[in-house]
Amino acid sequence: MEYVVGIDLGTTNSLCAVFRNGQPELIRNAHGDVLTPSVVGILQDGQVVVGAPAKELRVTSPDRCASAFKRLMGTNRNVSLAGKTFSAPELSSLVLRSLREDAEAALGGPVTEAVITVPAYFNDFQRKATKHAGELAGLKVRRIINEPTAAALTYGFHDRDADKKLIIIDLGGGTFDVTLMQIFEGTLEIISTAGESFLGGEDFTDRLVATVLKQLGMALETAEHKTPLLVARLREECERAKRAFLTEELAVVRVPEENGELREDAKRIKVSREAFAKVSGELVERLRKPIGKALRDAGTGPDEVDDVILVGGATRMPIVRETVRELFGREPLCTFNPDEVVGLGAAVQAALIADDAAVDDMVMTDVCPFTLGIETAKQFAHQTMDGYYTPIIHRNTTIPVSREEFFGTMTASQTEILLQIYQGESRRVKDNLKLGELKVTGIPAGPPGQQIGVRFTYDLNGILEVEAYIPETGRRFVTVLTNHARHMSEAEVAAAVERLRAVKFYPRDDVKNQRLLLFVERIIGEVPPMERQTLEETLTAFEAAMAAGDREQFAAVRQGLLVVLSSLGIEYDDYREQPDAEN
Ligand code: AMP
Repeated sequence: MEYVVGIDLGTTNSLCAVFRNGQPELIRNAHGDVLTPSVVGILQDGQVVVGAPAKELRVTSPDRCASAFKRLMGTNRNVSLAGKTFSAPELSSLVLRSLREDAEAALGGPVTEAVITVPAYFNDFQRKATKHAGELAGLKVRRIINEPTAAALTYGFHDRDADKKLIIIDLGGGTFDVTLMQIFEGTLEIISTAGESFLGGEDFTDRLVATVLKQLGMALETAEHKTPLLVARLREECERAKRAFLTEELAVVRVPEENGELREDAKRIKVSREAFAKVSGELVERLRKPIGKALRDAGTGPDEVDDVILVGGATRMPIVRETVRELFGREPLCTFNPDEVVGLGAAVQAALIADDAAVDDMVMTDVCPFTLGIETAKQFAHQTMDGYYTPIIHRNTTIPVSREEFFGTMTASQTEILLQIYQGESRRVKDNLKLGELKVTGIPAGPPGQQIGVRFTYDLNGILEVEAYIPETGRRFVTVLTNHARHMSEAEVAAAVERLRAVKFYPRDDVKNQRLLLFVERIIGEVPPMERQTLEETLTAFEAAMAAGDREQFAAVRQGLLVVLSSLGIEYDDYREQPDAEN
């Protein structure tokens, strides 16, 4: 049986889930983990590693690794790593390919179809880039769904007989989304959605990194440029400190050397939870606005919401929880692991698409998260002022939706109109995001006000199609929006698929060894000189055994290395055995 998998393609971590035996279930990767860091690395020999090994490599060789590329989806910006250039969809496709291989190993057969989640606030370009990444990974993308909608599906699936209103607050690594939903007798209705696409847990880490650097007399941007290895390692330290504030009042950040090494006698900087709250205060304030907007759009007060649900790793931060608690006057719920709930929901959506009997009593409706419209001109006295925005589909309209409006020519004998298509909430187009253009020609000449019809169709994937027609002649003009600069021809897509197919992954069976090697390379500088030699020798033996490929001898050397690590009191989160897969 071939499954449609559900994939949460996150800024920091990604995961894959499948719906089987009447339940959504997470798939483990080659390291036995359900979370795969969204990091891509290129080893010295040119082979590619994705996830945990790449994250290790990022600390020692940031120039060979790429991360947080989700933030570049839908833009023209490329990433250079190990001397090669990749687009954000290409890098995302490598993460997807890795997840796909894990799913194939777990399910014992080919996986060719997927549901992929995106932040609700992803615009048309970002959604298309995500779909494109799926195609580059050899996956047919059956549906793009909004992350908070997927989270809502997990809660709705488990609580489908309830009659209640839920608000989902989703703060991930790079994005923030708020979604209000009504559940009633198996029907899950998304009522409103709001968010910000550049606000997430990574911004909080950045604030901490900047604070520590400031104490050292450095600005973040300059340091990133001048001492990237120091900053890469310091970021790891700050990430650890940020997580420590969950339980500790005080965290210690060790300052690495310029070459990124963390010496035993490294300088230590203490940061209090209070100081962290202070430097991230502005970020916390930014959380309030979308929450207020989602409630207002739904005409709902905070006290009318039954459950407040937290999703996304960054909602674990006490300052975020406190803000939510204060806004709603009650304790937020976190019944499902906030890192996993979106991936599980993607699998529920996959089951809905595959008509799985376990979800045949469920119906889900989603909304368009932003307003879509065109540029128009207004006439004041005898003056024409352009640059105004006329909405055609209003935000929070249930999707799929198709709406038509009529517009007239401005001048006598005008035979052409260039429709400028925008997304956004501002009255003037300059403050909104331009999605594309559609030229309408052959309008019969006549006095001003000759009509054309403009139809906007927004589908379940959140992708917009614009159609214009001239009622008098019946002539039609259609565009599925593509941003010209980013548009690739079919031949270009095929070439990209080929190029990526040629990218060689480090063999899946051995990737856990590669991760161990990179881990030891990362921490070896922290080991006191007296003990370093034993570790160095064991590591060399491990490397030699890996190169020789003698598996039997190799298992013993690996075990030896783990013993040395443990005798040095170094914790290593090794491979976790997977429970037997049921097919
Ligand atoms: P996601 O994109 O949902 O995987 O969210 C990942 C983000 O959550 C990253 O920015 C992490 O730093 C953050 N995160 C995960 N666990 C914690 C924690 N215990 N405390 C603070 N932030 C966390």
